[in-house]
Amino acid sequence: MSRNERDLSMEKPLTRLVRSGRDHDITGPFVNPPVIHASTVLFENSDDLLGGQQRYTYGRRGTPTIEALEMAMTEMEGAEGAVLCPSGLSAVSTALLSVLRAGDHLLMADNVYDPARNVARSLLNRLGIETTFFDPKIGAEIATLFRPNTRAVYLESPGSLTFEISDIPAIAAVAHARDAFVLADNTWATPYFFKPLEHGVDLAILAGTKYLCGHSDVMIGTVAANARTYKMLRDTHGDLGLCVGPDDIYLTLRGIRTMGIRLDRQMQSAMSIARWLEGRAEVARVLHPGLASDPGHAIWKRDMTGSSGLFGIVMSDWSLDKVKAFLDGLRLFGLGYSWGGYESLAIIGRPNRTAVAWPAEDRIIRLQIGLEDTSDLIADLEASFARVSNLS
Ligand SMILES: *Cc1c(COP(=O)(O)O)cnc(C)c1O
Repeated sequence: MSRNERDLSMEKPLTRLVRSGRDHDITGPFVNPPVIHASTVLFENSDDLLGGQQRYTYGRRGTPTIEALEMAMTEMEGAEGAVLCPSGLSAVSTALLSVLRAGDHLLMADNVYDPARNVARSLLNRLGIETTFFDPKIGAEIATLFRPNTRAVYLESPGSLTFEISDIPAIAAVAHARDAFVLADNTWATPYFFKPLEHGVDLAILAGTKYLCGHSDVMIGTVAANARTYKMLRDTHGDLGLCVGPDDIYLTLRGIRTMGIRLDRQMQSAMSIARWLEGRAEVARVLHPGLASDPGHAIWKRDMTGSSGLFGIVMSDWSLDKVKAFLDGLRLFGLGYSWGGYESLAIIGRPNRTAVAWPAEDRIIRLQIGLEDTSDLIADLEASFARVSNLS
């Protein structure tokens, strides 16, 4: 075997992250791919212009930079192919529009990222697609919700605010027996800890903004498809005219190389902090499928090889003012949306539910654990607990 050939079956997860998408045809002798800013691509002569044989024809239709990340995602996801979108949310809508048409019915888990729920309720509804939301813990009983026109099931496991785990293989088996497609937003686990396409999912969605990029400086999304859905995905992505700037692609590829060691570290740190929080009297529940006490733990353990750095805590008898004072007292946890970067963050979570009510008194604080020293983060949380201990 030559230096540039690879035996994919021999690559363990960290090796795969380092090697994926580094095609010698694209990078030549350089470690990283060229950052190509392009709209127009020139042809040698009018025969080539009309012939349709040239590898690159127009910026939106592919460049070596785009191909390097598409190839990396295809390899990491074990996919037939993958497309790049300008944000995680555009990856969500692109995946949905790839398989749905007017008159279809969609089943969507009740715990999905709220803007994804909004795509179903506004855009898809306007196109004549009806959505039913379901309990993410439904498992094979999802069969009772199928209608003759149910064309797709959309999942996010764990949901990135309340962290319920879905039994993806059981749901996928039911959906496939009825010829429906299964879509899953895998932003929390990433393909490093879970490969959706190996568990019955047809389209795997990632907000690359989070762990792929890993440094809070890029908006990007990816969708990976199996053989059943790749053509539909590629055509829809083309019709929507989506493309991502080369600098953002470059930063995402750079992020992927260190994603495994970042995630290993964030998993350990988040697990330690989650266990510490479980022992605190102030905390009613810790929402983290990696904890043995979590209702989704058995399925998480069966299907995933690790857990990332995002989880929630429920403060059941805290007023909103007390939650706010707690967050305002934190020094190492920034207050801000998004996650997956190197820095720790906190937000107040507000679940928006229609299938299974979330009790209004169960306030969620969502924590993103970054790469700081774990004991510093615990000290920060501890100091903030002490500061609010007199409040009700
Ligand atoms: C952030 C996020 C998205 C959307 O990603 P953007 O890049 O912010 O558009 C989609 N799904 C999940 C689970 C997310 O956390």
